[in-house]
Order: sequence, then C-alpha cells, then structure tokens
Amino acid sequence: MTISPAIRRLVRERAQRCCEFCGVSETDTGGLLTIDHYQPISKAGTDHLDNLLYSCTQCNLHKQNYWPQKPTDLFLWNPRFEPASKHFLQLDNGQLHPLTPVGEFTIKRIRLNRLQLIAYRLHKREEAEAVRLLEQYQKLMVVINQLNLHSLRLVDEQAELLLLQQELINLLKGYR
Ligand SMILES: [Zn+2]
Repeated sequence: MTISPAIRRLVRERAQRCCEFCGVSETDTGGLLTIDHYQPISKAGTDHLDNLLYSCTQCNLHKQNYWPQKPTDLFLWNPRFEPASKHFLQLDNGQLHPLTPVGEFTIKRIRLNRLQLIAYRLHKREEAEAVRLLEQYQKLMVVINQLNLHSLRLVDEQAELLLLQQELINLLKGYR
C-alpha cells in the first residue's frame, strides 16, 4: 500500500522535519527526507503511523530492511518510542557512545558515527555555543547601558551638589 500524502505530511511534521535517527533536518540536507518503515513491509510491517519514521536517505540506506530474525538478534533503537538518551551519550568529540546493546547495534547498523554526522554534531554544538555567547553578550550590554545611565545620573547629582556648595560659600561670604 502506498502512503497517502496526508500521512506523509503527518509523519514529516511529527518529526519536525528532521531525521528521527540522526537529527539532520530538511534544511541541513536541502531536500525532503524519506519515510521509513521501522518494521519493514517485507518483514510483515504495516503502514500504521506507529511504524513510520521520518528518516534521511543515509540512515534509511544503512538500515535497509533490517528486522530481527532469530531470538538472539537485537532490535534497532525505535526513536518513536524511546528517547535517544536511553541508548546513546554524545561525547565531546561529537561521537555517539552506546549506553545499551541496542544503542551499540544501532550505531553500527545505521552508522550513526559516520564522519559527516560527527562533523555535523560538532558544527551544531559550535553554533549553539555561539548563540549562547551572543545572548550573554546582549545581557551584558543591557547591564552596561544601565550602569552608564546610573553614572550619568550621579554626575548630574554631583553637579547639583557643587552648585549648592558654591551657593553656600557665597552665602557665608556675605555674612562676613
Ligand atoms: Zn539520518
């Protein structure tokens, strides 16, 4: 059965237009991503929404029509039902470190540590850091502006005090 445009749209929006396995977006890849059947149609999977994932072509290509055949075969991570944090830890070098056998198997099968993805994660992290620094800088500028206003007010007050002082001196001179 072919997937209707309405279902495609739903899967796409549900995934926020990003690959549910590796996180790259349509904007990152410059095109639409693919609809993947978590349990392949050829292995008795259905077009039910719970079985559909939005996936980039690379992840889809590596996943192919994998489905456990023997009791000892592992399932792949199902991003629809489990958060990535359950199976993976992102290291400072941009690599994903497996936390579970499913995580380890998924990284190997879908090649979640392919060089381009590692570079992508590092780039995203740098971007996030740049945004964080910019936000900090903007907050700092607000504080500096407030301090400037405050010091201007102090200068005004000081000028007023000097005037009063001068008037007082003149007054005292008059009494002599
Ligand atoms: Zn992907």
